Amino acid sequence: MDVGFIGLGHMGSGMARCLLKAGHRLKVYNRSRDKAEKLAAEGAVVVDRPGDACRGDAVITMLADDGAVEGVTFGEGNILASLGQNTVHVSMSTISVALSDRLSQAHGKAGRAYIAAPVFGRPDAAAAGKLFIVAAGPAKTVARCQPLFDAMGQKTFELGEKPSAANLVKLSGNFLITVVIESLGETVALTRKAGIDPHKFLDILTSSLFAAPIYKTYGGIIADQKFEPAGFKMTLGFKDNRLALAAAEALAVPLPLASQIHDHFLTAIAQGHGDRDWSALAQLAAENAGLGDGHATPRA
Ligand code: NAP
Repeated sequence: MDVGFIGLGHMGSGMARCLLKAGHRLKVYNRSRDKAEKLAAEGAVVVDRPGDACRGDAVITMLADDGAVEGVTFGEGNILASLGQNTVHVSMSTISVALSDRLSQAHGKAGRAYIAAPVFGRPDAAAAGKLFIVAAGPAKTVARCQPLFDAMGQKTFELGEKPSAANLVKLSGNFLITVVIESLGETVALTRKAGIDPHKFLDILTSSLFAAPIYKTYGGIIADQKFEPAGFKMTLGFKDNRLALAAAEALAVPLPLASQIHDHFLTAIAQGHGDRDWSALAQLAAENAGLGDGHATPRA
């Protein structure tokens, strides 16, 4: 298929490579051009404006946040003004429910196709074509994009006609991940302060009742205290926490844990952890336990 790809960060670069490897023809755009140039050697055509990537079968956006997606979608030279009659805009970033609804309405009004397809999986899964994709929008349009999802993901979940439902599922999933990170951070601090090796502690848990990928992945990062380089930046994790709270407020659903974790994110960012992996939330639990920088020796 002929595909435009906009946003070649940690996730987008791996996803675009998977599409190229599967034989799709790519036009790529990235705000900082150097990241796009890296893909030119692998067969992608680098374009100067988002609108230049919008005349094929589909254009995928994989950008940081609402502001970035709004910025490349609306206005002259951007996606909506340039989208071909048969080109689908596939929004794969983690964005708000409200923006997804607005995108759906704006594309509908312009007679253009829009679906949401946010993903679960970190950059290593994106590079390996092993993402989990949650797709929502008109069934025929989702089906047209399936070859692209097959190249980027190990499984696609279809969620019905309303695109923003996929965004809400994604935000809910990320809220669950923050609860896992927070509870892992607290229990690792507890056991470490008592002198128990965190790797041993996590080995017991993930070999028994907690044998889920999420505990293995984040348990490993937290036990190793390897929060850099970030696979998913703290500031982006904070963005998703705020978007989950906004969606919950709109539906009048209290999320007391998310509210508490909101303040933990703020503390972590205020203390200079904003560019580290979001699992550095565990560092706060360690510091609150007097474990200094998370090291095994308690502060006197
Ligand atoms: P990232 O590495 O920070 O990349 C962000 C991308 O957005 C870059 O291409 C960046 O361009 C672009 N961008 C940021 N602000 C922009 C703006 N105002 N205008 C135009 N482009 C802009 O982020 P990522 O980790 O790839 O995440 C991308 C999306 O996937 C996010 O919505 C994130 O929540 C979601 N996600 C991430 C993960 C993960 O584990 N990392 C997993 C699932 C979903 P520059 O290169 O010029 O900065």
